Amino acid sequence: MCGIAAAPTAEEVFVLLESLQHRGQESAGIVWVENGELKFEGGMGLVKDAIKKFVSKGPAIGHVRYSTSGGYSRIQPVYNKRIALAFNGNIINFKSLEPSSTWDAEALITSITNEITKGYDLFEASKKVLSKAKGSYSIVILDREGKLVVARDPWGFRPLASDIPYIASETAALEDIGRRWTEVPENKIMLIEEGSITKEDTLTEPKTPAYCSFEYVYFERPESYFNGVNVHVSRVRMGEILAKEKPAEGDVVIPVPDSGRSAAIGFSRASGIPLDEGLVKNRYMGRSFIMPPGVREKIAMRKDGVVRDVVEGRRVIVVDDSIIRGTTMKRIVKLLKDKGAKEVHIRIASPPVRAPCYMGIDFPSKEELIAFGRNEEQLAKLWGAESVGYLSIKGLREAIGLKHLCVACFSDIYPFPISEEEVKQMLSTHRA
Ligand code: SF4
Repeated sequence: MCGIAAAPTAEEVFVLLESLQHRGQESAGIVWVENGELKFEGGMGLVKDAIKKFVSKGPAIGHVRYSTSGGYSRIQPVYNKRIALAFNGNIINFKSLEPSSTWDAEALITSITNEITKGYDLFEASKKVLSKAKGSYSIVILDREGKLVVARDPWGFRPLASDIPYIASETAALEDIGRRWTEVPENKIMLIEEGSITKEDTLTEPKTPAYCSFEYVYFERPESYFNGVNVHVSRVRMGEILAKEKPAEGDVVIPVPDSGRSAAIGFSRASGIPLDEGLVKNRYMGRSFIMPPGVREKIAMRKDGVVRDVVEGRRVIVVDDSIIRGTTMKRIVKLLKDKGAKEVHIRIASPPVRAPCYMGIDFPSKEELIAFGRNEEQLAKLWGAESVGYLSIKGLREAIGLKHLCVACFSDIYPFPISEEEVKQMLSTHRA
């Protein structure tokens, strides 16, 4: 998962990237146009640490990275003398786009530059390459003359919003800088010159959209809208439906901060069990799910504190948005019981994650997924809880309220066929 942005100045891109920091904390970068040349600044870590100096000129594009392909040390935007690009997603067939490439961003920039060398302009070259790309991409491509191409893949996996000439992965980021927004529709490509759209087109024949349901479950900021649906509202509904599908007898509902909060509101509303804050998050620890392995476990150890008065002697219902590796849940149950909780019931406001995502989210192998091959009773035993209950896929669909969603990581049914060779190629670049 990553965040991308474009704006008339590098300074504005910097601010947008800070608003998208939750989408990636491994590295960040900006490329801007200065006197007909592309200039880069970026590095590892948070936006404020990675991007130290830039001129407040532009136009510019930027990226915050959470790697799914290419390993941890890579930074976007990638750039050469002619163009720079930043994208959020994962190109499954990147080897067929550019056999010599070692990761997908490299395949894209090399292929598009090759088309430009053959005489295509930026828009046509980008369209030619992107229309052949299988996978997820929301992308911004900048050339040294300041022309900007913006596109969202034909399935619409990842979000992208605009208030031309401002572009950001999430609507909330544009609101942060006082802009209005519209969402870039799936399968759309456009060229922006001098602050206006000068060309637009579709990328391919229309496909059945496959909006990533995990964007609603976990990734996006609650204020954001994705395909017209507010993320917080959809999460509250996930909690409400969960309370009906998997009721629990308890005295208090507490969220796992912060991503379980909206669903806990819904669970409390639908069950009539009061909501309280029993777990307190150390705000300076970051999101453990999007941290590299090793760092992830250390952060999870120190992330939460417990309010004894809220949980002591009570039957506690803990609501979280999702469980991937289960790094934190066992520890949370222990913390709650150590502080006197009588019972702990875990409720998860999404279905069990049982399959890898090949469209841009980092849960690559089934063996890493705690719910793979385990049922709710086995998980309750593993975590030391009285019960565990997950939302159903039907419940998730109902909560989001859209017909066309990707739910492949829950159902193991992908929006398009993916060959064994493609999986092998993706995994060979993963965490390289
Ligand atoms: S597999 Fe899951 S995480 Fe990946 S795009 Fe589909 S819903 Fe999103």
